[in-house]
Amino acid sequence: MVAVQLRARGIADERILGAMAELPRERFLDPGDRGLAYQDAAAPIAEGQTISQPYIVARMTELLQVAAGDRVLEIGTGSGYQAAVLAGIGTKVRSFERVAALAEAARVRLDALGVRNVEIRLGDGSVGDPDGAPWDGIIVTAAAPSVPDALRDQLAIGARLVIPVGRRHLQTLLVIERRSPSDWTETSEGPVVFVPLLGEAGWEPSHPARAS
Ligand code: SAM
Repeated sequence: MVAVQLRARGIADERILGAMAELPRERFLDPGDRGLAYQDAAAPIAEGQTISQPYIVARMTELLQVAAGDRVLEIGTGSGYQAAVLAGIGTKVRSFERVAALAEAARVRLDALGVRNVEIRLGDGSVGDPDGAPWDGIIVTAAAPSVPDALRDQLAIGARLVIPVGRRHLQTLLVIERRSPSDWTETSEGPVVFVPLLGEAGWEPSHPARAS
């Protein structure tokens, strides 16, 4: 996976390649789906959700441009794999998941794998987490209809937000960088397909109450 799907396609950050080589990706899938762990595609997890394609995980991590010790907010814990990759490069991760069963399973999984520095919270992350702001990086692993203002505002100066934005079944991967308190740049990194971000700044107005 690392040689063919990541390095050969231009992922050059050795910290990310090393973290992904170390992590047993099959442990993030249900036992019956473990044969899909190293395929070059997204794979199903519980509750109708997905674990992203390995290349997309690596690319989004690279685009975030974070360093060891940085505090990163993830929206969409899912299996916990992306959070574990971020922890593997030394960042401190707070990850929001709106589906209780997924949040709990990811907590148990990361504990069993000895992954430290990931705090999983149950709730709607579409408006970020102002309590922990400013964040050194924000990564959204579900597709938003537009860039939530709250997420822009919670970036530290110089920090990046990586987020798929667009239609429900096809999005563009965007990188928003905060240059100053009132100046953000935006670059497009190509087409992607993610499951929808639900919640206040996502595709549905109603969402479960926040809890941690
Ligand atoms: N990062 C995950 C991984 O490594 O397995 C994959 C994430 S999956 C593509 C998207 C996840 O976002 C789903 O688990 C979904 O329940 C979650 N989600 C959708 N809207 C959300 C919201 N508003 N707040 C928190 N989680 C949300």
